[in-house]
Amino acid sequence: MTNTQDEVMQFIKEQDVRFVRLVFCDIFGHMKNISISEDELPRAFASGISFDASAVKGFLQIDESDLFLFPDPSTLAVLPWRPSQGRVVRFFCSIMRPDGTPFEGDGRSLLQSKVREAALDGFKMGIGPECEFYLFKTDEEGMPTMKPLDNGGYLDVAPLDKGENVRREICLTLQQMGFYTERSHHETGPGQNEVDFKYGSALEAADNFVTFKSVVKTIADRSGLFASFMPKPLVGESGSGLHINLSLSRDGIMDKRFEEAMTAGILRRIREITLFLNPMVNSYERLGAFEAPRYVGWGKANRSLLIRVPESSGEYRRIEVRSPDPSCNPYLAFSLLIVSALEGVKENLKMPLEDSGDAYQKKDGTTLPSTLAEAMELAENSSFVRSVIPERLLTYFLEAKKADWKAYEESSDKTQESRKPFFL
Ligand code: GLN
Ligand code: MG
Ligand code: MG
Ligand code: MG
Repeated sequence: MTNTQDEVMQFIKEQDVRFVRLVFCDIFGHMKNISISEDELPRAFASGISFDASAVKGFLQIDESDLFLFPDPSTLAVLPWRPSQGRVVRFFCSIMRPDGTPFEGDGRSLLQSKVREAALDGFKMGIGPECEFYLFKTDEEGMPTMKPLDNGGYLDVAPLDKGENVRREICLTLQQMGFYTERSHHETGPGQNEVDFKYGSALEAADNFVTFKSVVKTIADRSGLFASFMPKPLVGESGSGLHINLSLSRDGIMDKRFEEAMTAGILRRIREITLFLNPMVNSYERLGAFEAPRYVGWGKANRSLLIRVPESSGEYRRIEVRSPDPSCNPYLAFSLLIVSALEGVKENLKMPLEDSGDAYQKKDGTTLPSTLAEAMELAENSSFVRSVIPERLLTYFLEAKKADWKAYEESSDKTQESRKPFFL
């Protein structure tokens, strides 16, 4: 949807909209929102709506002033699960400082700037995420348990698959919000599901991922279930990945050489940027088993590899990056992937040799970082990461991750400690 402010105001009048949710994400990609009444919207467009940014983790210090949210009119969507009389709509927002300058903790603005920079050279990236998640039962008090909804496996059907109605409702709800999903199915783990997005622009894909998580959680909750996007909620079962399909065109034309150069560009940077693709202690329990990659390499069909360059044609030509997981901040993850890929294209990098065979059986080769601590060290010492992620955001991000790692190191029950962010 590309709406102007005038079209938005007309929609609001015609559709009996009474509440407007102004949505943004903290630096970890967690969705936040503030609700305003519909007659405050013109003011929001003109001068922004303030909030206390010192209360948002990773944003501002206590002695700094408020920040302002400016709704992006092109992101108008009705929240279909809210009442149809006195409707609720949402907008994603830009975050500004009081002096009107962009706030450096705003990942969405960062991604917008990377997309604009790419467009200056005629490049446009299409992004199509595939997101896996688990559905768990809740107890009598409605609190999540670690009991998966069913015992189904990959592509199973009902009654083994008990998630079919939830997935159906997720896809229909998203469609009402103008967001198309290509397919959905039961995944390998018990209670594990997957939904694949139709590819879109990088910004759309990142906004859609944030919307997706909140819709999945809302629909699951309404069905008396709990949806978890943790990378590895159950020990010994399949983890949940966020595979990211990337396609690149220049001046509207796709070129086979782009796939090669993008792959090479990402392989070169992957270790330094992994902190942002796999940001939790728990992320590292997923990598290296159940089709989640461990080695830095690529192949055409092998799913144990980091990048898959599938046989595909026409508009569906793409590469699939398989290491990211759904706990990432999509705005930061996509920014880093785009810049890595475009560097590869501009430098005309050549791909290393294709990996054949089962990468899990490999004895040597470069691996992804194996702990959050290792990923942090690589990111902290990376001039590439520093050239993409604003300094202040990086500092706060590292500070929070170091605290997570310290708590994990000091805990006596590491399995339990790494699953504390179960609610994510
Ligand atoms: N669950 C696997 C992962 O963690 C992917 C499995 C698949 O989609 N083939 O990435
Ligand atoms: Mg898939
Ligand atoms: Mg899958
Ligand atoms: Mg996939």
